[in-house]
This record gives sequence, C-alpha cells and structure tokens, in this order.
Amino acid sequence: MPEQKIEAYLPAAPRSIFLEKQIKAALEGKIIIETSWEKYFTGKYSWHGDHIEGFDKLPSHTVIFADASFVLTDKGALISFGCMDGGLRFFQKDETVSLPKISKSESHGYHAKIFFGDGSCCGFVLYGWATMFKLYDVNINRVDKSKISKSEKFPFLPKPPIDVNDDEDFTLENFRKWLSINPGANIIENCATAKGAFKIDNPMMNYLLLVSKIHPRTKTRALDDDEIKILFENTKQLVNEYKSGTRVCDHTDIYGKTEPAHNDITRMTAAVLGKPCPICGASVDATPAAGSKMYFCPNCQKIKK
Ligand SMILES: [Zn+2]
Repeated sequence: MPEQKIEAYLPAAPRSIFLEKQIKAALEGKIIIETSWEKYFTGKYSWHGDHIEGFDKLPSHTVIFADASFVLTDKGALISFGCMDGGLRFFQKDETVSLPKISKSESHGYHAKIFFGDGSCCGFVLYGWATMFKLYDVNINRVDKSKISKSEKFPFLPKPPIDVNDDEDFTLENFRKWLSINPGANIIENCATAKGAFKIDNPMMNYLLLVSKIHPRTKTRALDDDEIKILFENTKQLVNEYKSGTRVCDHTDIYGKTEPAHNDITRMTAAVLGKPCPICGASVDATPAAGSKMYFCPNCQKIKK
C-alpha cells in the first residue's frame, strides 16, 4: 500500500496546550470496546460521509497516543481530528454521554464516539468546513521508539517546522535556521500563519511581536541577531507560562467546563483595534498580511525594511 499523506488540522497554541494535556491523560492506555458514527442533523450537504471506513473495526485496540489532533492505537489505526472549541469531549464512567448539537443549515452534523473498557467515552462534534475526522492505517512497526521526540510524538505524525512543546526542537539555533530559509518573508508569516515555524495563533503571535517591539511586516532579513533572540525568548517564556498554567487562555475543556482566561495576554484581534496599546497606550492599528489583518502598535512596533 502506498504511503498515505496524513492530513492534520492542528489547533493552534495556546488552546492546544490545554487540550493536549487533558486528552493525553484521559485516553492513553485505554482499550476501545465500541465506536459510533451518527448523523444528528441533516443540512444541505456533507463532506464527512455517512460512514467512516474502519471506524467500526476499532474495538479491541488500545490507545497508545493521544493529543489535541490525533488518537493512535496499538494496531496502527490513526484518527486525525479537528473540532471547534467545546467539540472534543470526554465523559467518565456513569456520566451521560451528551454532546452539543450544532445546527448549520448548510452542513450535516455528526457525532463520533469512542467507548472504552473502563466505562468512559470520548466524543467529537463535527460540522462545517472547520472540523475534520479521518482514519488512517499506519505501520506501527516502523516506529523507532528511540527516535520519538521529547514531546512523545511519533515521527510519522505531521507537525509544524518547530514544535514549541519539544525543548529539543524549540531552540534559538533552530529558529534562526528556519528564518534563514525565507529571509524575504514578513516576520509574522515566518512565525505564525500556515507558512510559519510555530503552530501559534495570530493574536498570540502578534502579542509576542508587540512585546518584542517588532512590526509584523518587517522583512525577516531586516532583523538583527538581538531582535531574533528577544523574539525567541519571549515566545519560549509565553509557551512555558501556558504549559505550567500560570497563564490560561479562555477555552472549553474536555469535560465541557468553560475555563475563563487567567493572567492571559492581550490577544491582538479586531477587538483591540483603536484601543490603547497595553504597553504604551497608543492606539492599536491594523495592517494586511498573509491574507488576513495583523494588529500592532504604531508606537512600539516600527517597521524595518
Ligand atoms: Zn505601544
């Protein structure tokens, strides 16, 4: 069988950091006893299909890896999934398995459920273009366990060029190396966005550029060594603060609990346009980049050409 290209819909940090920790602890080591794929809403069309090939064959598999994007079993079944906030849910034994039903006229709605031997259940809410659920066969035997990264991801799982969860990968040297590949690109595109080094969302990356005093559209080659080092160190520090829980972004956890933001950053979104910069008080401005809008402070962040 030819090698399959694994598609991934990776939720961006910081939300992924919180989901990953919970889902890993909840699923790894559990034996699957039943699965169900159910259409709960009929819209105009679908792209998930009324049947997921192989999903009903999962009973007797054991989950050996789980994070915010993947569930992998000992027999080589790999689920790649993407859910909206609150769409990934875990239910303990004796809890009623009740998943949110989202109705969008243009899209069918589906629930995928995986039941485990200890009476718990993991559920996925799927609808619309921004969710996905795919099943792949992977050859577990070709995994060299000694090469598994510190973040314990398997080598065949797609990941961003620099994995911020892996201290061995997320180094200043690797960051500089990545930036040297495409020195003509704007720094925001070289860091976040689909072409960027990190899987960090734009509002968080633009906050990191603000505190590093770098304009999002500064060309990468215009940055000096110190500026790159400061951006790297700020990114590392912020990621570590989310990992340790000293900062929390608002999100729905896998138990359905809404976690409010705690000690969170100022997310640079349309909501802060025209509002005072959290550092100097000047009005936040916007600039187009990477097919989107990037928010920045015209006083703290001067563009370098
Ligand atoms: Zn400012």
